[in-house]
Amino acid sequence: MLEQYVAMRDEVAAQLPHAILLFQVGDFYETFGEDAERTARLLGLALTHKSSKDFSTPMAGIPVRTLDQFVEKLLAAGVCVAVADQAEEVGSGLVERKVTQLLTPGTVTEERHLNPDENFLAAVATGDGYALSLLDVSTGEFRCAAFHTRSALYDELSRWRAREVLLAPEMSGNPALLADFQTRFPVMLSPANFDEEAARAELSEVLGEVPKSLGSAALVRACGAVLGYAKLTQQGRLDMVRRVVRFEPGAHMRLPDAAVRALELFTAQAVGGVTLMDILAGTRTAGGRRRLRAWLRAPLLDELSIRTRLDSLETLTRAADLRGGIRSLLYRAHDLERLAARVATRRATPREVASLARTLDLLPEAVRLLAAQDGLLGGIRARLSALPDVVTRIRAALVEDPPLRLGDGGLIRDGFHPELDELRRGAIQNREWLARLEATERERTGIGNLKVGYNNVFGYFLEVTSAHLGKVPADYRQIATLKDRARFTRPDLREREREIARLENAAQRLEAEVFTELRDSLAAHAEALSEAAGALSELDVVAALAELAVESGWTRPQTTSGDTRLTQARHPVVERATGGKFVPNDAELNAGRFTLLLTGPNMAGKSTYLRTVALCALLHQIGSFVPADHAELPIYDAIHTRIGASDDLAGGRSTFMVEMSELATILHGATHRSLIILDEVGRGTSTLDGLAIAQAALEHLHATRAHTLFATHYFELTRLEGEHAGLVNLHVAAEEDAQSNNGAGGLTFYHQVIAGAARQSYGVEVARLAGLPAPVTTRAAKLLTALNSGGDEKKLLRELATLDLSRLTPMQALEVLHKWQREV
Ligand code: ADP
Repeated sequence: MLEQYVAMRDEVAAQLPHAILLFQVGDFYETFGEDAERTARLLGLALTHKSSKDFSTPMAGIPVRTLDQFVEKLLAAGVCVAVADQAEEVGSGLVERKVTQLLTPGTVTEERHLNPDENFLAAVATGDGYALSLLDVSTGEFRCAAFHTRSALYDELSRWRAREVLLAPEMSGNPALLADFQTRFPVMLSPANFDEEAARAELSEVLGEVPKSLGSAALVRACGAVLGYAKLTQQGRLDMVRRVVRFEPGAHMRLPDAAVRALELFTAQAVGGVTLMDILAGTRTAGGRRRLRAWLRAPLLDELSIRTRLDSLETLTRAADLRGGIRSLLYRAHDLERLAARVATRRATPREVASLARTLDLLPEAVRLLAAQDGLLGGIRARLSALPDVVTRIRAALVEDPPLRLGDGGLIRDGFHPELDELRRGAIQNREWLARLEATERERTGIGNLKVGYNNVFGYFLEVTSAHLGKVPADYRQIATLKDRARFTRPDLREREREIARLENAAQRLEAEVFTELRDSLAAHAEALSEAAGALSELDVVAALAELAVESGWTRPQTTSGDTRLTQARHPVVERATGGKFVPNDAELNAGRFTLLLTGPNMAGKSTYLRTVALCALLHQIGSFVPADHAELPIYDAIHTRIGASDDLAGGRSTFMVEMSELATILHGATHRSLIILDEVGRGTSTLDGLAIAQAALEHLHATRAHTLFATHYFELTRLEGEHAGLVNLHVAAEEDAQSNNGAGGLTFYHQVIAGAARQSYGVEVARLAGLPAPVTTRAAKLLTALNSGGDEKKLLRELATLDLSRLTPMQALEVLHKWQREV
């Protein structure tokens, strides 16, 4: 058996080098050797040993019925899993085994292993530039793009958050590139075949051709590699993949990963914190949620597309009935995108096909609701109504609540298939005969307590107690004798029994055939199904965004050719957290004021203000209403952020290094159409360094004329206002408050952004507010005065310059040092 295991493991390793092979041995899946050690560690299992006289090997196993749960853990840990099942009944010899599943994080399709949102498998190749392909095996979504620069590729890759990445050998073989990639994308890297000829063959096989749109060899290789790998893990089936969409990376706003993180689109920086996605995700279907994420990850640049979305939202915000109708309908929808993919790959279970029917049942109602609509909603209606009526066919064939699996039987309706009905009727008649047997035999033989029983050895039998053995008729044949009773059979009993088994087996086989036929006939509509699924997801997103806009009093933004004007804008997440206490603010950026320098004490609301502007811009470009009373916004080509002093400890880079490399990316990438949010640049280093860098960066950005919001505690920068046209000082209002409880003074924040520079840093007041011991804040206030006047320093320098060292004894020198030290 171990030889069989080793051979099988080698075979798996040839395809998925790091996979763990789970090898069925009776009621357990076992792993041996190194794999056992790995598995035990990853799953927290006890390690045992399998020994015989020649060898001993570590062994770790899991019960067969817990497979899913452990596979889940292994996938989450970024480990691929191969499952080998026993392929025949256990006999005396070696049991035959077959690899039945190859599971990898980026290619699983079973609902229970999927992320609700992200399930992309990605491949990256280089050549003339960079090529990226992305495949979601669970929905069949397949897209690709080419890039000129590595940073553009990385931006795009981080948008899609692939769960598993395939790197072409020219990348994985370059240690520096590989290390850089791995620090940016801590996902599973799997090897795949990037050979161009093989890629062409894969594309031809799966898509029927090598699409001309792919153009470059790098794109062909990236697309082919993804397909080849996915096909391997799907054991040959990739029917849900029907076309590859080549998208232009330039068609979307640049939104680097740093901005996605800083703006907390999908993950909050504080544990348990709220994200923008949380605020927006009033979607009612899994597909809608995925679509919304995709919109957020890829804001639009095309004015018409933005307007189309906004128009549909406006319609929905005004028509409460329509909106309500759509939203209550969506409540009843299952995940149509995934169901469509399951049907296309002919994997759908009876229950999934029933869910599909229930969801498709909703479409005519949706089409009716949208009857009067044009634009985006009209397009959705068209896509929803293009599907031929497959529900009637499913309904006619399938029972209301079919069993989970095909083998369970009882899934096809009576009356759907005459031959099946015939088989079932026969089986039922025979069962009825059996059910009556006890009564008829009691009557015939006069044995009042005669019983019909069943066991696995004899099947059905007649049982008579010893007292009545004399009355047993001649056609009974004794098959067993117990202490006080005997068991009999009759030739026709055996026959009936065999007949029942034959009829029921035949019925089950026929049911499976009928179901498979039904499923195959649905697969023929895969294209229309996935169109309808996409349309339903989109409908969900616009209805959810419209609902939010109405509930939260958001406004439709107007697209301008360059100016930003926000009135009473709010930060959607902070607003929710502060209850009714949020203070809205205005923002204005245009050719006359494009660099806003924001000062004010810590905790005053600077970051919040910066992010409010960025989030409004982002929401505008996904085609959403924005949290403001009035909003005019241009189409920004990028949102860049540098916020907070986040430590990248995992990457082993210091805070300052991270800050500077993010700043470098921004300074290289900013154009006059970009929106730049910089918060406390230069904080990670000593004051003078930081100030110098902050000023230089600010001047550079000012020269690009990008819309820049710059929050800083360096008050020295506020004097730049007079020197650079377009640079304007703002500050967040706060007031020193003399009668605070400890008499030491405090601060009141108004969170109000107003013109002009802040008076001073207030840092010490904030420290006092935060509860630092009084002696510390008092000392800090004194130091601050000294530092601001710079008096001590100059005095010391003067003394040092005039000191006559030739006349100083070592003791006197020490005394001077001592005095200076006291002074500072
Ligand atoms: P800063 O960047 O100036 O240090 P933040 O923007 O981080 O300040 O804001 C600090 C806290 O003040 C926030 O967590 C929030 O609770 C509150 N806050 C900020 N802006 C507002 C506002 N406009 N209205 C009400 N509360 C606000």
